[in-house]
Amino acid sequence: MAESTETVADLAIDLSDVRKVYRGGVEALRGIKMDARRGEVFGLLGPNGAGKSTLVKIMLTVVRATKASGTILGSPIGTKSVLGKVGYLPEKHRFPEYLTGRQAIEFAGAMCRVPRATCRARTDELLELVGMVDWADRKVSMYSKGMMQRVGIAAAMVNDPELVVLDEPTDGVDPLGRRDIRDVLVRIREQGVCVFLNSHLLSELEMVCDRVAILVQGRVAAQGTIDELTRESRRYEITLGGEPPPWCSEGDLRVDTDLEGRSVLVAPKVEVDGLQTLIDRLRKDEIDIASIRPVRESLEDLFMRYVKDPRTGRHLPPGAERKTPPTAGSPRP
Ligand code: ADP
Repeated sequence: MAESTETVADLAIDLSDVRKVYRGGVEALRGIKMDARRGEVFGLLGPNGAGKSTLVKIMLTVVRATKASGTILGSPIGTKSVLGKVGYLPEKHRFPEYLTGRQAIEFAGAMCRVPRATCRARTDELLELVGMVDWADRKVSMYSKGMMQRVGIAAAMVNDPELVVLDEPTDGVDPLGRRDIRDVLVRIREQGVCVFLNSHLLSELEMVCDRVAILVQGRVAAQGTIDELTRESRRYEITLGGEPPPWCSEGDLRVDTDLEGRSVLVAPKVEVDGLQTLIDRLRKDEIDIASIRPVRESLEDLFMRYVKDPRTGRHLPPGAERKTPPTAGSPRP
């Protein structure tokens, strides 16, 4: 569960064993252990069928877990009253087209039973937070997808939540709009809120998430900061101006060729001191160095690593497995 340096109060989500077997024996979640902190943007990613929606629904008390240990905002998972402190933006949400942005946020506040005066003041603050003050009194039918999403995020924040769960907030939004949304998420994080993103847009997650969890077949295959998760893959690539000496292929070192046919010395697991030693050695051997580049896996590479079967190199089948084999005559999955 939580690392020793953290108090439980720092954790918005602290799950140690969440399992879900759907009727019919589909094992959607097979013992989820995951934690997300207040004041961080946390990304949940995984291939279709990995169990992401099931996990989110369990956190939002829409689906009951078969077995669950852990807390959401300090309350045992499944506690309905905790929803008062949780905000949620569903995927592909729609507002009635005749509402203005301001009205859409106030409507969400009324649904959450936020007192009217508080709701008005909060709506003003939120319009500011999501950068929609100038558009507040225009009908949402005039909005771009990105503006719609920003108002959706404001609506999800209307009850002043400590945890906000956003399902695919940047899906279908143009690059400029996506950047605006990322800025909004960072501002929300600065307020000490835990922003929980469920998204398949890996490059987006990479840009904004402090930590991620990769869900594969109903289990957390990896969890941590992108830096921690890609540490093993960090390497330097040194493009050489001449033939590499034989020692460039010794130990962990190897030589690749770039698109222009130049030799590239690839040095994995090398720290800055080690890099200096390599440079000194190349100079001693009178090899020109054209460039030096630190390289690490992208979130996409990392994701692909976890969703591939290392033995066959093929994609793992999506998430769930049946707990009990189907009976004779039942349809094949
Ligand atoms: P994801 O959101 O990662 O795509 P889901 O949580 O939707 O994954 O689904 C996980 C697995 O559980 C899938 O195999 C899916 O078919 C199955 N599943 C989801 N909802 C139900 C349900 N209501 N009844 C039976 N099986 C379900």
